[in-house]
Amino acid sequence: MNKKVGIERCGGYDRDELYRALKAASDLAGGLDVAGKTVLLKPNIVFDSPPEKAIVTHPAFLEACIQLVREKGAAGILVGDSPGLQGPGFTARLSHLGETALRNGAEWRDFTKGKTEVPCPEGRAVKQFSLAGAVREADCIISLPKLKTHQLMIFTGAMKNLFGLVPSAVKSAFHVRFPSQESFASMIADLNLAVKPHYAFMDAVTGMEGPGPAAGTPRHIGLVLASSNLLALDAAACLIIGYPPGAIPVSREALARGDWLNDFSEIEYPGLHPEEVRIPDFVKVPLKKPGSQLLDFVLPKGLRRFREALVPRPEINHELCVRCGDCARICASGAIAPFGDGKERRMAVNYKKCIRCYCCHEICPLKAIAIKKVKITQALS
Ligand code: SF4
Ligand code: SF4
Repeated sequence: MNKKVGIERCGGYDRDELYRALKAASDLAGGLDVAGKTVLLKPNIVFDSPPEKAIVTHPAFLEACIQLVREKGAAGILVGDSPGLQGPGFTARLSHLGETALRNGAEWRDFTKGKTEVPCPEGRAVKQFSLAGAVREADCIISLPKLKTHQLMIFTGAMKNLFGLVPSAVKSAFHVRFPSQESFASMIADLNLAVKPHYAFMDAVTGMEGPGPAAGTPRHIGLVLASSNLLALDAAACLIIGYPPGAIPVSREALARGDWLNDFSEIEYPGLHPEEVRIPDFVKVPLKKPGSQLLDFVLPKGLRRFREALVPRPEINHELCVRCGDCARICASGAIAPFGDGKERRMAVNYKKCIRCYCCHEICPLKAIAIKKVKITQALS
């Protein structure tokens, strides 16, 4: 597999500058071969929100990608995603991604329609995925992630972005089935093996630092990345924001499969090297302490439960909460519900049921759910 990653500077979301940077990054990474193919472009839409919040892949980035893919001879271009709580008819209106796709001659796809079964015989966690019908229509998939931190998975990039191929209605169930970082990472590695994405372009012009992927702060990075090797691209992005790639659960798991790389040192950077453009003060989600995975196996059951209760948990800021109910709808464990009557009515989290998937934190449109450390007294209660 190709091991080149192209990194190119790009100061903002001017379409011509983006196009130039994407083309240059792609040339550095060994080019893009989509001639005669129907291409599915998969931006990252955690939930539909305006581009300036840096939660979604920027529409100007999508526009430049459509232009490049068309110039490379694609026979058809499809665009779509399945945000957490989206029912049929999602058009990505607030993010302008739906309208951008149509205006540029691409076709918008509703991911709630026409499910397709994709086998994964080599899967360790999943042997078959039920995915959006658009996957069947496309000859190849291009992941368009935004560079962001992620409270559960530490970092979200090109590989994790493909979780959006799973229709919204069943996404939460995956968090119940794969509640730990390690099991979720294994499922994401399987998904990438199953759909064999063709390429990735990363929107790292403005990324997100702090408590991503939706409640963090936009951070100007000024880069775009390109590669046909999604693990290599994610590793490069991690280095730029100061994470060792092997510390990121999805990248660590994907490396262990040996399908993309055998070692992160194999990655080639024909243009800029991540160290040249590293952001030393990027605000990161803390990594798990070394050895903590081992402890999960050796601790007796009672102590393990106590340790689990100490895992940072979602806490609702009732000053910000408008009781829209999105958090309760996305919580597959049924751990959030309204509590009390009249003016006292509030959303409340049942921590005994909560599996710490942080979907509620991700989906809350008002950043009213923070992930907080748990005090020993709280864990014991
Ligand atoms: S999603 Fe946010 S605003 Fe809506 S009910 Fe939950 S905490 Fe409140
Ligand atoms: S309360 Fe939030 S973090 Fe806990 S299980 Fe529900 S969605 Fe996940």
